[in-house]
Amino acid sequence: MRKLLFWVLGCFLIMPVNAQEKKDCEPSGFMSAAERNDSKELFKGADFSVTIIGSGNPLYNPERSGPSALVQFNGTTFLVDMGNGTRSQLEKLALTRRYGPDALLITHHHLDHNEEFIPMVHQQLMAGKSFLITGPPPIRKMTDYVVEFYREDLEYRMSNKGQSFDANNMNAVLKELEGDHSFTYKGVQITTTEVPHSIYTLAYRFDANGKSIVISGDLTYSSNLPKLAKGADVLVLDCQVIRKRGNGAQTQSVSRTSAQQGNASRTFRRENLAAAKSRPGNSVHATIEEGARMAAEAEVKTLVITHLPNVEIDQAATKAKIAEQFKGEVIIAGDFLTVSVDGKVFMLK
Ligand SMILES: [Zn+2]
Ligand SMILES: [Zn+2]
Repeated sequence: MRKLLFWVLGCFLIMPVNAQEKKDCEPSGFMSAAERNDSKELFKGADFSVTIIGSGNPLYNPERSGPSALVQFNGTTFLVDMGNGTRSQLEKLALTRRYGPDALLITHHHLDHNEEFIPMVHQQLMAGKSFLITGPPPIRKMTDYVVEFYREDLEYRMSNKGQSFDANNMNAVLKELEGDHSFTYKGVQITTTEVPHSIYTLAYRFDANGKSIVISGDLTYSSNLPKLAKGADVLVLDCQVIRKRGNGAQTQSVSRTSAQQGNASRTFRRENLAAAKSRPGNSVHATIEEGARMAAEAEVKTLVITHLPNVEIDQAATKAKIAEQFKGEVIIAGDFLTVSVDGKVFMLK
């Protein structure tokens, strides 16, 4: 009896605390979804831009989230890759739930690029917003897996909101892509091409209003990439950098990373891996020279270098090396760095 009394009293005491905790869990320090009319306001007047959500590589780095970039056109958002920390980063921008991305795009199935695919799909299905999923095979299998594995969980959570989950009538449009494709989604033309890496990899180009943004995916030198990125306003590129050493007098190129090579996909291209293994350092990522060459051949206006290691980067030396071939603007990415197609550069938060 005494135990029961404590339990009843405990419930009354706990209930208001939980309500307060829920309120305190809302993200603070950033513009919340409730504080703006739509996600367009977040992008500070830039109609068409790309934000680096995560500028890191597969190795955990508290300073750089895992690889991810958010292309935005008039408030419509396209999330390219979703490495470790992506959901946390999006939450800081209040770009989750009903403000979640309009499209989830994967360049390739290395863990550092699709690590948060499952929670992102789960979140989007819960939000009930229509969205696009695209990427190379086996993205359909992955999506089916998420739906099947979490069906009971989705049904339970949706029922808590007075809604039902119907796996046969989802709000997701799925496109499994290999090679060259072009299609329009929500007013933006999306074009893809294959680029060489250790597994099958796509690069994405986004065109709208005569402007363009390209995300390379992980790659080594490829003549495909300059063709895809021809004349683009912004090219976000996987490219090595120069590490600061000692007093900065000595520099060393940093290559990353061949650690993901064991994860073969259904469309695995053995020749790509064989070619990569014959490269200096076994690297399956563009050297500075290759990155500069691709940007120069593509004649892009702004080059954003990402997929960065956990080292102190010699920005001046890296930019000087790139300038030997590429004469446009060069930016070393950081998390939340945003570049618009008309050349504005700012931090999103
Ligand atoms: Zn990667
Ligand atoms: Zn990779």
